[in-house]
Amino acid sequence: MVSTRYPLVSLKPHREEPLLHGHLWIFSGALQQVPRDVEPGGLVEVRAADGRFIGRGYYHPHTDIAIRLLTTLDEPVDADLLRRRLRRAQRLRRVFDPRTTDLYRLVHSEGDGLPGLIVDRYADVLVAQVHTLGMERLLPLLVEPLLTETGARGLLLRNDSQGRRREGLPLEEPRLLAGLVPSEVEVRENGVRFVIDPWRGQKTGFFLDQRDKRAALRKYVRGGARVLNCFSYTGGFSLYAALADPRVRVTSVDSSAPAMEAARRHFALNGLTTEGHEFLVIDAFEYLEGARARGERFDVVVLDPPAFARTQAARSQALKAYRRLNLLGMSVLHPEGILLSCSCSGAVGMDDLLGVLSLSARALERNVQLLEVLTHSLDHPVHLAMPETAYLKAVFCRVL
Ligand code: SAH
Repeated sequence: MVSTRYPLVSLKPHREEPLLHGHLWIFSGALQQVPRDVEPGGLVEVRAADGRFIGRGYYHPHTDIAIRLLTTLDEPVDADLLRRRLRRAQRLRRVFDPRTTDLYRLVHSEGDGLPGLIVDRYADVLVAQVHTLGMERLLPLLVEPLLTETGARGLLLRNDSQGRRREGLPLEEPRLLAGLVPSEVEVRENGVRFVIDPWRGQKTGFFLDQRDKRAALRKYVRGGARVLNCFSYTGGFSLYAALADPRVRVTSVDSSAPAMEAARRHFALNGLTTEGHEFLVIDAFEYLEGARARGERFDVVVLDPPAFARTQAARSQALKAYRRLNLLGMSVLHPEGILLSCSCSGAVGMDDLLGVLSLSARALERNVQLLEVLTHSLDHPVHLAMPETAYLKAVFCRVL
């Protein structure tokens, strides 16, 4: 057997504890010494101060997270390991019946044992996003397995997420890595049809993490219900609501004109007329203020804003924005109306969101019943030992 040697990194005494519990990150402060021959993004072997083997991963000399582990076993980090991770990820996604749902996150970074890598599947194409220097170096080993393991006909790289800056990586234009990826890919999610643009759509084209919340919304939408979908993007929640009953009237609100155009198109694609529905390109806060002033009332309100806080430092500002948003959302709800309130800010926890709802209710002198508390869809698995990799909070409640 050929044994590969990895530059050795040792930890300060007792800094191996979280790693022994399954955590995969090693902060720079935990390192005793780093060998000189390790390249930025290169692979290293990590040992505890007493010499005990901890794992292998990749190293970044300038980020707080100095090492992300790829394995805690004494095994090579090579194409074979990456392929096995990919296969394991793929087996989880077998829960999706492609006849009704053919889009999902295939690889969810740490949650799938491939830190720094996101791969989303849209029917027969894949869209990848690399967030770390270490994964950037491993990516060439993943291209062939990604195609052969999934049978996809194309692989697009969308390296445009802001997080790359932290790693000293450039933001890039979309880049085709293999095969063919059209600018319109038709997909189905729980039987609802969408057309995704993997080249120009937000994130990799769609917000896959809300699939189960969109499905959960259906049961709350009855008869002639009036539904307000704030931050609608291409109409995900709006379509599920409108398809629940022909008498439902949906107002979709988003600041992006192309997203709203796509939302209209999605109504037609699903056999719905756009009559009776509103598609408004406007700031959601501004819309809500106006609706409140006009005395408009809805039976169901969805609030799915972009992340207001990406860092701990931005937390208190973000909490203020969530408070304002939820207060406005509740104030346009009929008594006994349903509010779905979401937050995808990593720095804002579930308790924070529940606190925001509670404060908003108090300010309006209304009571709130908590109905469903949800997080990510199952194709965004969260590593149990790494709660910080969870980001999505979604709460259904009834506002009395
Ligand atoms: N609910 C959507 C995903 C929402 S993502 C879905 O199910 O697919 C957040 C959306 O908020 C994006 O579409 C973005 O264009 C929009 N957005 C960002 N800031 C906004 C603002 N101030 N007012 C309205 N929309 C905004």
